[in-house]
Amino acid sequence: MIRIPSKRNLAELTGDRLARQLSLTRRDFLRDAAGLAMGSTVLGTAPYLLGQAPVRKKRKVVVVTFGGGARDQETFAPEGQENIPHLLSELAPQSSFYTHMMNQGILGHYVATASLATGVYETLNNFSVTPPEHPTVFEYFRKDLKRPASNTWVVAPSNGFNRIGESNSRLYGPGMGAGVILPKHLLKAATAGGGSDYGHLLRDNYETLVDAAPAGGSEVELEQLDRILKLSVDDFMAHARTVSSPDELSMYIVKRLMKEESPDLLWVTMHDIDVAHSGAYSLYVDAIRRTDRLCADLWRTIQSDPGYAGNTTLFVLPDFGRDSDTDAGGNGFQHHRTGGAASRTTWMMALGAGVREGTVYDRPVQSIDLVPTIGAIMGFSAKLSQGRPLSELT
Ligand SMILES: [Zn+2]
Repeated sequence: MIRIPSKRNLAELTGDRLARQLSLTRRDFLRDAAGLAMGSTVLGTAPYLLGQAPVRKKRKVVVVTFGGGARDQETFAPEGQENIPHLLSELAPQSSFYTHMMNQGILGHYVATASLATGVYETLNNFSVTPPEHPTVFEYFRKDLKRPASNTWVVAPSNGFNRIGESNSRLYGPGMGAGVILPKHLLKAATAGGGSDYGHLLRDNYETLVDAAPAGGSEVELEQLDRILKLSVDDFMAHARTVSSPDELSMYIVKRLMKEESPDLLWVTMHDIDVAHSGAYSLYVDAIRRTDRLCADLWRTIQSDPGYAGNTTLFVLPDFGRDSDTDAGGNGFQHHRTGGAASRTTWMMALGAGVREGTVYDRPVQSIDLVPTIGAIMGFSAKLSQGRPLSELT
């Protein structure tokens, strides 16, 4: 039986107790709906002891942020499960699933994603085009493992993510990070600001930048598309005409990158779900369903690509949640402005190489634990991260 706390009970819980209750409800739901078993942290580094063959090929990591914050009642809960058929039936049973991941930073998408990428709760202005202060996972990876720029990439929505690829850190910084591809920026450049066929892809209806400065950093320009992705501008635009959302366009670019560059460290930030800010519940749910489908599509691509199959660990996690219906001062699914436990208590699933399948962990972990975990998996040190490697995955 799934114990579902009534809304009244949840409303009476606050802070840590609410976060814990959300985690336990998620855990029980996964056990009943997807057959996941409780994992023991004491076993620690044991996936190979349980019969999984050691990975002999070069390790690869792909990170997907589950686009712009979603709540349990539209995802990992009985009333939300119909929106995530692929995550629930295909991905979760193959995953190690963390049900109690806390984000204790600022709940804006750019600053939260930057924090995920540095392993430090960054405090930069979410609405300006600023590099993260601390080194990114891409810089640790490239410097420690002596990898070329072509070995790590970020694909992200256009609003403000130009500088996510490399930090301001004097120890790393310019030239040591990941190339950033912002498909919407490329499309905007290709249509020279016009192009009524692409209105649904170019609209940013969520958070508006104060400083919409030119790109800078390591962002890829339109003229480089052909060299990097073997993709002409005409073919890019023709494909864009066939997709229904910015995240679908991002996934197209991700697949081209995997085929042409086969990067070992690949980061995809999805963002369609954040259409919730418009207040249209149906668009928010549609976006969750699309993101669910795109995550499964990516996982299948990983498994069918000889460069990735068997040696890749995929992480799927939201940047944060959204406000609960019972938060005073919030407006339910629409925003993430209260900073309450519902918008901070998220989840993460890890799949693939080195992962104990079908296992759920309900101990509290943090968003900033991702980077040191990737470091432990790939063999670099995230020296300035304030998180800790997740022992079950390393
Ligand atoms: Zn948002």
